[in-house]
Amino acid sequence: MIPQVSMSWASKVTKCRYNCDKAIETATPVITVFFRNKDKTWTAKHGYHPACWIQNGLDHLKNNPFVMIPEKPILSDEDKKTRHQIIRKHASLKQRIGKLDNDNPKYHILVAKIEAQIAQLMVNIMSLGGVPTKWLNGKNR
Ligand SMILES: [Zn+2]
Repeated sequence: MIPQVSMSWASKVTKCRYNCDKAIETATPVITVFFRNKDKTWTAKHGYHPACWIQNGLDHLKNNPFVMIPEKPILSDEDKKTRHQIIRKHASLKQRIGKLDNDNPKYHILVAKIEAQIAQLMVNIMSLGGVPTKWLNGKNR
């Protein structure tokens, strides 16, 4: 679900989603929040007074206290390049596994050899921004 937020002039009187008991009057600013599924199967539209939208956000933060997120190290251009190469290597290894012949008696040995290379790539990419989450989900890229 991807929310999209925009501010505009209210073109009609609507109820404020924050339950502030005041209507959003025509020609006053309104914050409109669209929610939609990625495949657009479901959408919803909520209107807020701008101040109510901020209050709504502050309420949310109050219920979800601040947690320090470890900062991602900024990679040098050289490191970015190396990281990119590792990602491409990973994709081609995954592809090779896909192309292996199941009936080959050495199939499992070949897979294991490639898996070992993939494991090494994971070790190598750790210090270059970390293992891409997509790798862990079993996807190629
Ligand atoms: Zn309101």
